[in-house]
Amino acid sequence: MFRFAGKVAGKDDLMMEEMQRLTYEDTFCFLCHKGVRCFTECCRDLDVVLTPYDIIRLKNGLGIGSGEFLAKYTGTHTGPNSGLPVVNLRMSKNAKQTCPFVTEHGCTVYNDRPGACRSYPIGRVAVKNEETQKDEEFFLLVRESHCFGFEEQKEWKVKDWLKDQEIGTYNRMNDLLMEVISQKNRAGKASLNEQEQEIFYTACYDLDRFSTLTHIKDLPENCRIEPHTVEKDTELMQFALKWISATLFGD
Ligand code: SF4
Ligand code: SF4
Repeated sequence: MFRFAGKVAGKDDLMMEEMQRLTYEDTFCFLCHKGVRCFTECCRDLDVVLTPYDIIRLKNGLGIGSGEFLAKYTGTHTGPNSGLPVVNLRMSKNAKQTCPFVTEHGCTVYNDRPGACRSYPIGRVAVKNEETQKDEEFFLLVRESHCFGFEEQKEWKVKDWLKDQEIGTYNRMNDLLMEVISQKNRAGKASLNEQEQEIFYTACYDLDRFSTLTHIKDLPENCRIEPHTVEKDTELMQFALKWISATLFGD
């Protein structure tokens, strides 16, 4: 099982992109800034999968609830492989299909941008070794033809890039979701019925609503009290993921 965490470009670009496998110590040349001639060109026609932690950061950064965020900015489908609800950032309905958060000046949610946007052009592949049950990871350098950031002379080690983009917490939180998916696979549960899909969606993505469900025992009390914050939501998310494992996948 693997997860590729990276922005995915439009179809035409995908045909031209090359991927190169990297370790933490490998280097690459790249810089994205307002002076590049492609500035903001990559923030359109994208398939950005949002993780629970992405949503926590974005909705708190925007100062809105999870329900409003999901309704305004996302779409949902059932993952063909996982059989689980998948939440995507919904592109605007204009000719360029731009991200709802991009302007000519750049990303308006930069401090809370999704993990996939942070790590670009590096994609992380997290693998569960089925024999040892240990998590392993490697990285892919995604080189897309429309991106002129590769012409810049700034050299990075992969580990320094990830640190610069503050991606560590995102990866740690996203790995917790991966653990739930692993538990689902271990439980041999191929798909969820409609009610289970709803439970999974609420507990993973609509945390404000999850915090109001009074029948859930042992939910951290401070998480029920507004205002919601990144810290409280992160604690709630960790509880919710364990709760999903126990409730839906018998962990
Ligand atoms: S969230 Fe920001 S960085 Fe990501 S695609 Fe949208 S505008 Fe670009
Ligand atoms: S340099 Fe690459 S990442 Fe930066 S704006 Fe251009 S296409 Fe996007």
